[in-house]
Amino acid sequence: MKTLNDFNFNTKKALIRVDFNVPLDENFKVTDATRIEAAKPTIDKILADGGSVILMSHLGRPKGKEEKYSLKHILTKTSEVLGKEVKFAEDCIGSVAEEAAKNLQPGEILLLENLRFYAEEEAGDVDFAKKLASLGDVYVNDAFGTAHRAHASTTIIAQFFPNDKCFGTLLAKEIESLNKVLKDSEKPVTAVLGGSKVSSKITVIENILDKVDHLIIGGGMTFTFIKAQGGKIGNSICEDDKMDLALEILEKAKAKNVQIHIPVDVIAANAFSNDAETQIVNVNEIHDGWQGLDAGPESLERFKKVILESKTILWNGPLGVFEMENFAKGTIALGEFIAEATEKGAFSLVGGGDSVAAVKQFGLEDKMSYVSTGGGAMLEMLEGKSLPGIDAILR
Ligand code: AMP
Repeated sequence: MKTLNDFNFNTKKALIRVDFNVPLDENFKVTDATRIEAAKPTIDKILADGGSVILMSHLGRPKGKEEKYSLKHILTKTSEVLGKEVKFAEDCIGSVAEEAAKNLQPGEILLLENLRFYAEEEAGDVDFAKKLASLGDVYVNDAFGTAHRAHASTTIIAQFFPNDKCFGTLLAKEIESLNKVLKDSEKPVTAVLGGSKVSSKITVIENILDKVDHLIIGGGMTFTFIKAQGGKIGNSICEDDKMDLALEILEKAKAKNVQIHIPVDVIAANAFSNDAETQIVNVNEIHDGWQGLDAGPESLERFKKVILESKTILWNGPLGVFEMENFAKGTIALGEFIAEATEKGAFSLVGGGDSVAAVKQFGLEDKMSYVSTGGGAMLEMLEGKSLPGIDAILR
């Protein structure tokens, strides 16, 4: 796996695909610069070598050239985070970009305009990729968030740098962390899968059964499994058409010697609302009109025991409706168990959308071994798929 350390960037122009798709407020101010901060180590290394940096990214989903999606809005923030002036090219290809790239001196940074102002980007157009490629000497992919897309700047472009392409620090770390869970994991390995639906996690569950010793299933998925086994789930969320699949998963887990842990009790509510009445009930005996919205205390005790005995932990998906304070306790407790296990030496990886949001919201981010930056890309890797953006560098 080629990384930045395999290159000396002295006098070289590094063309880096970053993921600067950051949230903006109504005044076009960056509200969360995490993604810019995440690219800093890569940029710093190249500049320290005596190279220059050309940054390319998308922002939002523009239809053609739309002012509100211009990357010029993030220029000030990017300079602030990187601690250096950042130049801007008002186009990502053509004479404007070429001129700006040509004039770039060692130690300087250039940000190109939104790649998605051209439909060719998402279409994976070869000519467009070639034009982008002409701007730099070395191609660096540091955008995990788009690594599962075969876009011009994430995948197609790599062919124009047969020897001069590598992963940035961030992307290398994502791959390494996932390998620590899926390939070279220290046992026992536990995966916690929560969230709302079985259907969106089914491929992950199937792939993960070959890699783990324990699988904790929580969140809304719980009830499809419980109903399939004959439990009464009241008005809890359930996918009736996935009940057979749930039973199949349980059978497969048994055959593979994977211990499955499903909540035994839940916090049930008489409405999907933070102000609803609540009661702790056996997961198999939820009354009509009531729905399970969080894991109960007995379940959490059991999960804690499993987590604290684990050496490798993967967490994807909340244990309850954590957006509502009264149903966030299970998710917070789980995060704290994983933090404790991590402190004792376990490797923990949190990835995929809502669990990352939960970990950040509850201040647990720094207590995990690694928190992934890519939702969809992470899920596809957990599903066992190879990602085009990664393959293009390895090829
Ligand atoms: P996902 O995007 O599939 O990871 O699902 C995350 C969503 O699942 C969050 O918005 C949670 O509020 C929701 N969720 C978790 N537990 C439950 C539950 N018991 N009932 C309904 N929704 C849930």
